[in-house]
Amino acid sequence: MDLDYDAATIRRLDKDHVFHSWSAQAQISPLPIAGAEGSWFWDADGKRYLDFSSQLVNVNIGHQHPAIVAAIQEQAGRLTTLAPGFANDVRAEAARLIAEVAPGDLDQVFFTNGGAEANENAIRMARLHTGRHKVLAAYRSYHGATAGAIALTGDPRRWASEPGLPGVVRYWGPYLYRSAFHATTEAEECERALSHLRDLVAVEGPQTIAAIILETVVGTNGILVPPEGYLAGVRALCDEFGIVLVADEVMAGFARCGEWFAVDRWGVTPDLITFAKGVNSGYVPLGGVVISAEIAATFADRPFPGGLTYSGHPLACASAVASINVMRDEKVVENARRLGDEVLGPELRALAERHPSVGEVRGLGAFWALELVRDRATREPLVPFNAAGPAAAPMGELAAACKAEGLWPFVHFNRTHVVPPCTISDDEARAGIAILDRALDIADRYYTG
Ligand code: PLP
Repeated sequence: MDLDYDAATIRRLDKDHVFHSWSAQAQISPLPIAGAEGSWFWDADGKRYLDFSSQLVNVNIGHQHPAIVAAIQEQAGRLTTLAPGFANDVRAEAARLIAEVAPGDLDQVFFTNGGAEANENAIRMARLHTGRHKVLAAYRSYHGATAGAIALTGDPRRWASEPGLPGVVRYWGPYLYRSAFHATTEAEECERALSHLRDLVAVEGPQTIAAIILETVVGTNGILVPPEGYLAGVRALCDEFGIVLVADEVMAGFARCGEWFAVDRWGVTPDLITFAKGVNSGYVPLGGVVISAEIAATFADRPFPGGLTYSGHPLACASAVASINVMRDEKVVENARRLGDEVLGPELRALAERHPSVGEVRGLGAFWALELVRDRATREPLVPFNAAGPAAAPMGELAAACKAEGLWPFVHFNRTHVVPPCTISDDEARAGIAILDRALDIADRYYTG
């Protein structure tokens, strides 16, 4: 289909008819996009942007990978849609491949359309499996925007949907740079975060707790990489009290952290893993829950009370099969790990040496954050927590400077995340970081330390 609309027409139709996420509709002016390829996309006027956001951190394999586009086209010619109750070749193969790359005995997959629905269903499974109702969820987290998933979410996006779900209890996860536990070393942060969680389990009553949910590496809330021993500690706590461990890998999974699943980095096997985004880079909406043998057995002779018209959609599953095969053939997981170790990590740390406003650099694989501050000693953030409007201006100026030079950044609160496709070339990554380097001069102007 070639609509041949110019930029002005797209803008006008969008303004008149498209209701956008998370936005005051009259205050936004979305950029009309015409196309994309690899690590780049371009607007309707032909201006090109290097995608350091991977859109919403989902285009792990890059834009318009020909093998995935071909798989979708071929599947569209064979069978475009099928009710979830049937068995089907691409659906079965997608589930087989996901089970193959998942750790331990997580061998069955419940397909959804995205990450929020995956978390909704994971919690449903955990509650029915344990017969308990409470769920422990972290403050610094995002789990999606449906009723249950937003209630699990710990960041300000949940506020407008409160009071949310009964039985959600919140805990602090580890984050040494802004430690909730006054810790000064990784080991201290790990030990205190685990002890806090253990205390919470005790006072809430372990027999009431169905699940602990965590983002293996916290994504939008700051690329918080857990300290050595933390995940194993949470696993042990869950085992001790019969609590289901749910790892939300919607953002962290499928190569983003230089692993198939981020938990692989620490050799920990959760009971349930939720995924979406990178499973097929969002070419067709897809998410799901990978389920342990024990939890799957709960629903062997008892119906699972959940379903979706498009669960295991053939186009989505065909794109997932192609994507996992491409990730294997083109060593995308290995490339993300190497990128983090050899290019993104060292180059971003070098930025921190040049720019006083960079308070901390952290990340792994193709998943990095620069935390910007006004003062390295006090760690006062460049903009306040949850800042909007004029208070957020310094970050807005930084983003605008990147965009002017053709780099599309991912900015959240006082951080800019460096989350390009896992297939980005070293030269492209370096070119993007050079633009970021110049844009950081703006952040430095606000530095008062
Ligand atoms: N979980 C995490 C960790 C996410 O980052 C996101 C989306 O950004 C979600 C869940 C929600 O996924 P979706 O927007 O596909 O519902």
